[in-house]
Amino acid sequence: MNDRGGAEFEVVIGLEVHAHLQTRSKLFGPAPVSYGERPNHSVDPICLALPGVLPVLNARALELAVRASLAMHCEVHHRSIFARKSYFYPDLPKGYQISQYEEPLATGGWVDIPVEGGGDTSTKRVRLTRIHMEEDAGKSIHDDAVAGAGATSVDLNRSGVPLIEIVSEPDLRSAEEATAYLRTIRALLRYTEVSNADMEKGHLRCDVNVSLRPRGSEEYGTRTELKNLNSFRFIEEAVDAEVARQTEILERGECVRQCTLGYDPQTHLTHVLRLKEDADDYRYFPDPDLVPLVLSETEIERVRKQIPELAEQKCERFRTEYGLSEYDALQLTVTRSLADFFETAARAHGQPKPVANWILRDVLQALKERDLEIDDSPLEAESLARLIRLVDEGKTTAKSARGLVPELVERGGDPVALVDERGLGAVSDAGLIEKSVVEVLEENPDNVELYRSGEEKVVNFLIGQVMQKTQGKASPAIVREILERELRK
Ligand code: ADP
Ligand code: MG
Repeated sequence: MNDRGGAEFEVVIGLEVHAHLQTRSKLFGPAPVSYGERPNHSVDPICLALPGVLPVLNARALELAVRASLAMHCEVHHRSIFARKSYFYPDLPKGYQISQYEEPLATGGWVDIPVEGGGDTSTKRVRLTRIHMEEDAGKSIHDDAVAGAGATSVDLNRSGVPLIEIVSEPDLRSAEEATAYLRTIRALLRYTEVSNADMEKGHLRCDVNVSLRPRGSEEYGTRTELKNLNSFRFIEEAVDAEVARQTEILERGECVRQCTLGYDPQTHLTHVLRLKEDADDYRYFPDPDLVPLVLSETEIERVRKQIPELAEQKCERFRTEYGLSEYDALQLTVTRSLADFFETAARAHGQPKPVANWILRDVLQALKERDLEIDDSPLEAESLARLIRLVDEGKTTAKSARGLVPELVERGGDPVALVDERGLGAVSDAGLIEKSVVEVLEENPDNVELYRSGEEKVVNFLIGQVMQKTQGKASPAIVREILERELRK
């Protein structure tokens, strides 16, 4: 928590989030969007800014941008304008980036984020200022191993990749809220298949604007902007560091200067990249190569119909349809693929609640230990259902089945065959179990006495003893049956 700002000052945060749109080709040219391609091999004359070329808008990119805007409750405008944002940088061959400025694609809108408060979760509505489309710039590589000592090389594979920028109002009040907001945005972008939103690959990047104001004050303080934070941890650390820095300045009675900052994860400090006085003057003007972007109501409505059931609605439905707790439903709807996995498994098995438990307890644990998402695992929803059914039918024990989950998550496979191969089949050989039961009863005359005098609870202890004797392989249902029969004799 931002304890430093906690007492005297309130933290105010607004985010600018850039997300790559999941298109095959670039925003204005035919080159494929590729990750991991050899440098400068995913390019075309347009993103290279060769003389005389003309941009042509990617219809798919537009559709995805509209879809994201609608999913975030924005007003999508019937007319928007592409502008040139001019600046010089080696990885920007045109000398300008095509973006939207005065008339963006969408404005308004909001997202609801989960916030912790007094032990239970509630939601907070964060307003959006705008969502606009733009193209990404290339990449400057300052790595000596790639570029040669002290040199910088330029890779234009990323030049012209379609982006949306989602700008929030300064509605966030802590580093935790900022990351909760970003997680919500990421989930939305993935649910709607607008973006992979993978921060490590740079599909999702974020600038964080931070200011402080005296608690109770209506007016905002001067903000600073933390640039290009590419992990949730760095966002939290950078905000905390910046809150500490601003608190010190304000406590000294000085003013925060508006500036752009970088964050160094090594030192945990923020440092000034540029002051706003030598302000960004991008000389925006409408790009004369691109006509105004006009969207009819019919086109907007067509895109609205593509929006799938989103996390929040799914969560609500899981609670009512399957009787799951809010906590379980929230966990299962974190990603669309996990939610789909659960529903497929629940359908295959027939009982949603135990299936939810197996996923939340065993499958998620195994995924986490391997740093995998459900999509990356060869485990099929049907196989999980089959594994649970083996336990239900007494063909293996819960303990043995749970032991197989990590392997199934890692390598997949057929649970029935695995149980067989490993000799994990529950011992349902009545003769064998009976022998153990008799032994246990002989070894525990006191408990037998207790049972017969009405303390029927001790049966559980006796079951445990039999299970131990059979190395946990006996089918508990059969053990109970035989035990009770013998006790009543
Ligand atoms: P710029 O291009 O100058 O960064 P934008 O309008 O793109 O401006 O983004 C401004 C961002 O800064 C928004 O997310 C907004 O919520 C946030 N912001 C504005 N004022 C403050 C403030 N006083 N404290 C914190 N964040 C702020
Ligand atoms: Mg900014």
